[in-house]
Amino acid sequence: MNVILLGPPGAGKGTQAQLIVKNHNYFQLSTGDLLRAEIKKKTKIGEEIENLISKGNFVSDEIVEDLIKSTIENLKFRDRIIFDGYPRNVIQAKKLDEIVRHFSQKIDLIIFLNVPRDIVKKRIMGRMTCEKCNVTLNEYFNVEEIELHPCGKEFLKKRKDDKEEILMHRYDTYMKETKPVLDFYANHDKFNELDGAMKMSEISNKINEILNV
Ligand code: AMP
Repeated sequence: MNVILLGPPGAGKGTQAQLIVKNHNYFQLSTGDLLRAEIKKKTKIGEEIENLISKGNFVSDEIVEDLIKSTIENLKFRDRIIFDGYPRNVIQAKKLDEIVRHFSQKIDLIIFLNVPRDIVKKRIMGRMTCEKCNVTLNEYFNVEEIELHPCGKEFLKKRKDDKEEILMHRYDTYMKETKPVLDFYANHDKFNELDGAMKMSEISNKINEILNV
C-alpha cells in the first residue's frame, strides 16, 4: 500500500513514518528530509531552498516534484511508500496522482493526524533530530532517551525553522494551503482521521491496525 500521512507541522508524521518503516518494511519519502539533503550539498538550488525553509515558506512545487520523481524512479520499493510532507497543497495532490500513475502505482491509504495548534507548539519547540540516525526526540518528553541516545546526545540538534514565530507562520500556511488537501481526499475510500494528540505509541497502534487490515 502507498500511504500519505497528512497533518500540521508537529503532528508526528515523521515519527510515525519511521515506526511504519521499522514495523512494516516501508520506504519513508519525506520531502522535508530530501530538501534538507539538498541544502547540505551546498549547491545553488540548495541555497535557494535554505532561504525559503528558514523563513517557513514552501519550496516551489517544481523543485519538490522533481525530488519526488527521481526518488520514486530509483526506488526498489513498490507500493510500500509513505509520503511524509507531500502533498502540501492541492496542486501537489493532483500532481502526485499523475506521478504514481506514471509509475503504475496508486495512493491506497490516507492517514490524517489531527492536532490542535497549542499541542503543535509544545512538540515543535522541544523537538530534536539526530544528525546521524534521523530519530526525533523531545527535550521535554524524552529526557531519559536523550541521555541514552545510542549515537550520542551531541548529535541531537534543533531545526533552524523550529522557532516560535517561524512555526506559527508554517502552521498558518498549513491551514491555508494544506487543509484543502483534506477535502481533495475526503472521498477516498481509505481516508482515516486519527487524534494526533494521543501518545505516540497509541497512534502507532492505531496505524498498525489500519495497515494490517
Ligand atoms: P518538514 O520536514 O516536512 O517539516 O518540512 C520542512 C520544510 O520544508 C517546510 O516547512 C517547507 O518549507 C519545506 N517543504 C517540505 N515539504 C514540502 C512540500 N511538499 N512543498 C513545499 N515545501 C515543502
